[in-house]
Amino acid sequence: MSSPPYDTIIIGAGMSGLAAGIRLAQFDQKVLILEKHYLWGGLNSFYKQAGRRFDVGLHALTNYVPKGTRGTPLIKLLRQLRLRHDDLRLCPQGHSLIRFPDCQLRFSNDFEELRQEVGERFPDSRDGFARLIQLVADFDAFDPKDTTTGARSVLSEHITDPLLVEMLLLPLCYYGSAREGDVDWYQFVILFRSIFQEGFARPEGGIKPLLDLLISRYRELGGELRMKSGVRSILHEDGRCQGVTLDDGAELMADRVLSSAGWAETMRMAGQQLYEQNVDEDELGRLSFVESIFVLDSEPKDLGFSSTITFFNDAPTFEYCSPQGLIDDRSGVIASPNNYLSDTPLPEGIYRLTNLANYDAWRSLGAQDYISAKQGCVNQAIEVSKKYGIDPRPHQVHQDAFTPCTVERFTSKPRGSVYGATRKRLDGNTPLEALHLIGTDQGLLGVTGSMLSGISIANRHALVPHQAK
Ligand SMILES: Cc1cc2nc3c(=O)[nH]c(=O)nc-3n(C[C@H](O)[C@H](O)[C@H](O)COP(=O)(O)OP(=O)(O)OC[C@H]3O[C@@H](n4cnc5c(N)ncnc54)[C@H](O)[C@@H]3O)c2cc1C
Repeated sequence: MSSPPYDTIIIGAGMSGLAAGIRLAQFDQKVLILEKHYLWGGLNSFYKQAGRRFDVGLHALTNYVPKGTRGTPLIKLLRQLRLRHDDLRLCPQGHSLIRFPDCQLRFSNDFEELRQEVGERFPDSRDGFARLIQLVADFDAFDPKDTTTGARSVLSEHITDPLLVEMLLLPLCYYGSAREGDVDWYQFVILFRSIFQEGFARPEGGIKPLLDLLISRYRELGGELRMKSGVRSILHEDGRCQGVTLDDGAELMADRVLSSAGWAETMRMAGQQLYEQNVDEDELGRLSFVESIFVLDSEPKDLGFSSTITFFNDAPTFEYCSPQGLIDDRSGVIASPNNYLSDTPLPEGIYRLTNLANYDAWRSLGAQDYISAKQGCVNQAIEVSKKYGIDPRPHQVHQDAFTPCTVERFTSKPRGSVYGATRKRLDGNTPLEALHLIGTDQGLLGVTGSMLSGISIANRHALVPHQAK
């Protein structure tokens, strides 16, 4: 019997798919990445509008450490993809804020700043915070024995001031929790390190230069990428995956398939029976967002917004769940790419505002109502967020917004759920041999996280042990 034409087929050209592709092509595997859309990048792509290029998702690349640091996730990622730190052209953040009505915490890429802020504002919780840091240091988040414990209960055991618990949860939930009301403790540990102890940066020029780098590296290594090539189904026989069928009916065979399409989508592609046996629709994940993007005639800092990212909550406690209405205006994230430290200023001011949003509420709107609801929600969100940022409207030269329906349309994530399923599959295994999950539903999120996911699952399931080091 002739061998299949591909060693590995990868479903999806998002960050996890591209990273897995590069990793495998480095070892001379015959790799094919199949992407449904005409653009790569998935949740972290870019688009053009009114003569400008916008990033879809990028507020911040997490896990930033300066050149020369050893052993952290970003450095491992660079090593595994054979990239240099300089290749990413990372601009570090200035500072970021966590803001509640009567309290704010400032943090930066120097963790000592947060430690000091906590000590000054919450003197009674200083020791508890130190214990938390130790707990985070001691915990093996990449091989957790228990994935069901929530961070709220662990934090409350150590930190006496409930406001500090809420303030620590706010950025970590917004930047990576698939679970409503909380964040899994092991995910909290990953996020705490990547956001507070490592830090934020932005590739100079936004996400496109980073994607260009990944695509050109992949192609130089002989990797094949097919755009507008949606996978309709996954072929399997006797419990082993054999390849895929494309939307146009073409069948492509491979030794293995790595899928970044999410657990439920991957099972759906594998057939009705496997879907019914393995997908619990309560675990699909309900968290999505509306993001409003303003192009301004001035730099945000000249209008009074100087932090790189501000996480705000306009109430004493923080509710992280799919809201009743279209959006929840009480909490959100404000980000400005202008406020990274760079020698090359951006040509215009950019101000981004993100709020939790309800997929079903957006889905139920007709076309006209949808457009007017977007504008209504943008205005509603600004009224609350301007207490913690600015009102960008008087300086706006262009505005855009996207909703959970946009996320669903462009990434096939069911319900536009940005952080995917609530239950992650950390080993990347599926009920089929030679079919593995990478990306969001495997368990590592964000730009850096999803790339690491692609690399680690490729190492574990598609390379022989001596290659996977
Ligand atoms: C508004 C927003 C802001 C964000 N901000 C940040 C941030 O500041 N920092 C950060 O680190 N992260 C951020 N993220 C999260 C980050 O973008 C994601 O965690 C990461 O990009 C996920 O990568 P992935 O490869 O797992 O999945 P995806 O990006 O979803 O990639 C999956 C790909 O698979 C394709 N696909 C699906 N089904 C099929 C099929 N049947 N056939 C072929 N292709 C298919 C999809 O089209 C998609 O391209 C943000 C996300 C959003 C939406």
